[in-house]
Amino acid sequence: MTKKERYRFVLDWFQKHMPVAETELHYSNPYELLVAVILSAQCTDKRINMVTPALFERYPVPELLAKASFEDVEPYIRSVTFANNKTRHLIGMADMLVNKFHGVVPDTIEELVDLPGVGRKTANVIISVVYAKPGMAVDTHVFRVSARIGLTVKATTPLQTEQQLVANMPQELLAIAHHWLILHGRYICVAHRPKCEECGLKEVCKYYNSDMKYIVDPAYTRK
Ligand code: SF4
Repeated sequence: MTKKERYRFVLDWFQKHMPVAETELHYSNPYELLVAVILSAQCTDKRINMVTPALFERYPVPELLAKASFEDVEPYIRSVTFANNKTRHLIGMADMLVNKFHGVVPDTIEELVDLPGVGRKTANVIISVVYAKPGMAVDTHVFRVSARIGLTVKATTPLQTEQQLVANMPQELLAIAHHWLILHGRYICVAHRPKCEECGLKEVCKYYNSDMKYIVDPAYTRK
């Protein structure tokens, strides 16, 4: 099977079986999504959705968050991973948003990664979800699932994964493909013991069709 055929199969399968795929984070405007994505690093969306309603109610606009102190904000996100760092990032991000970008969430990767707490993955989420621009945000799920299926080859960094996916997918599918791969990784192609027998991609999946699974998951038995 060629790389092109593998991509075609995977994209067709997701289009058919997951026509709607969106972020599971709750938000109502670009500022809230930016806050939620910063908070979600190495934490679950479920946890973030538990803390953001009160946070957004107290700080509905970046101008208010920018003026807040560490002691004001930290209690709202105390149950989130790395709460101390994220508190500083949120306040710093809001401050720069107000003072450098007039309170408007920027629409380019270059400007977004200037903001405290915003890396390339977060920036790609914002440009694709908020601004409908082509962008592939690579998190741990996208990285793992792409490698297992064989969409990426020898990618050792998120940037390499991003570059290979962007090079091989139609631009208009990048944003939804990001969600497809995340959701597939979250519920089917999980890190430990992927649910291969339930997976509609096993026909083309390099991992499934190799002996690797016996090493990674000795409990697995081929049917
Ligand atoms: S067949 Fe298994 S390893 Fe391959 S994508 Fe599906 S769940 Fe993941």
